[in-house]
Amino acid sequence: MRRIVFRSDDLHDFESLGPDDHIKLFLPGEGSADGKPLMRDFTPRRFDTAAGVFELEFFLHDAGPATEWARQAGVGDRISIGGPRGSMVVADDFDWYLLAGDETALPAIARRMEELRDRVPVHCILLVEAPEDSFDMPQRDGAHVQWIYRAGRVGEDADLIGTAISTWELPEGDGFAFVAAEARASQGAREILAAKGQKEQWIKAAGYWSALAT
Ligand SMILES: Cc1cc2nc3c(=O)[nH]c(=O)nc-3n(C[C@H](O)[C@H](O)[C@H](O)COP(=O)(O)OP(=O)(O)OC[C@H]3O[C@@H](n4cnc5c(N)ncnc54)[C@H](O)[C@@H]3O)c2cc1C
Repeated sequence: MRRIVFRSDDLHDFESLGPDDHIKLFLPGEGSADGKPLMRDFTPRRFDTAAGVFELEFFLHDAGPATEWARQAGVGDRISIGGPRGSMVVADDFDWYLLAGDETALPAIARRMEELRDRVPVHCILLVEAPEDSFDMPQRDGAHVQWIYRAGRVGEDADLIGTAISTWELPEGDGFAFVAAEARASQGAREILAAKGQKEQWIKAAGYWSALAT
């Protein structure tokens, strides 16, 4: 994971109301074959409009334009962003929250951990490669953070996240479940949660990347 702090005089009206908002990063280079600029989505992890700064946290996977840009970025480099275009603001009056995902979801989950009301029960299921990749997740009373490790099992994210969600006991009361991970893992998690009795309208399961992409 690489955290990069951006500074701009144009951030005075930057707004991000939802912890899983995203901005578009416009990557330098030739763009795609249809002439559009190359864009990738990232979560505004922190921002301070008065100071004109915001932070993104990049999971550096094997290869991809955004990963390459983040890997080599240095002080003084410039890049354009757009958005966020809209925020999904989830009510902070649920009885509990489930926050699950892989490395790409950690910024959104960390933000939600910081922004939820005090002492509300939260269960996190977080998939990373190995214990040393465990991220500096904010602590809070009432939260239980369950790390699970891929340990070289590439392509098995759906099973790993699915098994953890299957064995987790759905608490009583009304809860909200947020899942962000590889597309099939998120879809699988949605189905498991629905089968466990979680109301579908209180599940947000998003594919943050696709293993089928080239
Ligand atoms: C709403 C939203 C918010 C997001 N926020 C963040 C964030 O804050 N931080 C963050 O790191 N990512 C975040 N992501 C995920 C990020 O946009 C993707 O991982 C993106 O594909 C990375 O672009 P790239 O140019 O590095 O790779 P791409 O060019 O998109 O992909 C190149 C290859 O890498 C593979 N790949 C892509 N992502 C991964 C991965 N995570 N693990 C393994 N292989 C991968 C693809 O399958 C493909 O084969 C977010 C995605 C969404 C939709």
